[in-house]
Amino acid sequence: MEITSFIVMDILERAKELEAQGIDVVHMEVGEPDFPTPDEVIEAGVKALRDKLTAYTQSVGIPELREAISGYYWSQYGLEIDPERIILTPGSSPALLAAIRILTEGDKVCGLPDPGYPCYKNMVRFLGGRFVSLPVEEETGFKVLSHQLEGIEVLVINSPANPTGAVYNRKELEALMEEAQKRGVAVVSDEIYHGIIYDEPAPSVLEFTDRAIVINGFSKFFLMTGWRLGWMVVPRGMIRLVQSIAQNLFICPPAAAQYAALACFREEVLAQFREKVEIYRKRRDFIVEALNDMGLEVGVMPQGAFYVYANASRSTRDSFTFAKRALEEAHVGITPGVDFGDNKTHLHVRFSYANTLERLKEGMRRLREWLGGLG
Ligand code: PMP
Repeated sequence: MEITSFIVMDILERAKELEAQGIDVVHMEVGEPDFPTPDEVIEAGVKALRDKLTAYTQSVGIPELREAISGYYWSQYGLEIDPERIILTPGSSPALLAAIRILTEGDKVCGLPDPGYPCYKNMVRFLGGRFVSLPVEEETGFKVLSHQLEGIEVLVINSPANPTGAVYNRKELEALMEEAQKRGVAVVSDEIYHGIIYDEPAPSVLEFTDRAIVINGFSKFFLMTGWRLGWMVVPRGMIRLVQSIAQNLFICPPAAAQYAALACFREEVLAQFREKVEIYRKRRDFIVEALNDMGLEVGVMPQGAFYVYANASRSTRDSFTFAKRALEEAHVGITPGVDFGDNKTHLHVRFSYANTLERLKEGMRRLREWLGGLG
């Protein structure tokens, strides 16, 4: 089976080896928040365990949490989403896998943004499906454009996007959804980075269509990566099918994680998540300026998520070797563009700013010095 390694994971493993040798590594490769889960959420999880809520739950998740998520769609987006359409999953990854499988039934061709989240293509491969890359260009803000829907039957979009931080605004998303509808293209919208945005709020595709499958979860904005909890919002006609898939493939999402996640929607806890976004913003502003100064150009200011996708073409034409050397020689972990596809990815590298400002400063200092030495 042709599954490519998730290069960022390889980099992370090598970084851990260096650290085991006593070498200090600045991590800018990791794709998860550097903040722990808030105490209130941990307490709710611990309480669930103490109350011996350790059995399986409903395969689609506990009703209270499905209702809480529905309430969140109302408060955040002004959308009324029937909790029946919300299906909890063990992380958003299995939700993505299920969504892609359902929509590509019948050997349908899946269009994937390039550069884009690498697991999409490996999921399609794992499922024995077909995909085509949809090049997204710096000049157009790294976004999929309507005319690119020609020849595809399923579209996966991701806003805010990994690795570019691109966010589709209302107009862009509406136009894309209209075009998808016109052409009969089914849509999976990966909204896992929603909430981590720096300008206008990112619209959900649910504002424009109720036919798409929306993926979201507790890993990023809600700071719960290791708890493994995600959700999908499915069209009404798919509820029964997705429930059967959940019953057979997942049994249920982790029980304690679900009870813990209920605490995420308390106003004082939501405020803590929002504070983190302000911290990310300061880091983004710092790192973008520092990268531009050293010739690793950031052509498009990231509007969401916690990544900067920089053009390293002044220093390299081989982002893989560049990232490997940055780790070995400057002790800075970054992710080569080639992890994210084929479209000019040999010229780009991704920086994650899910690290403290102090460490990011140290990372930038080391890179500047190292690049200076490269001449
Ligand atoms: N989608 C994107 C774009 C991601 O970056 C990630 C995490 N790296 C995921 C989905 C999966 O997240 P999880 O399974 O932790 O919910």
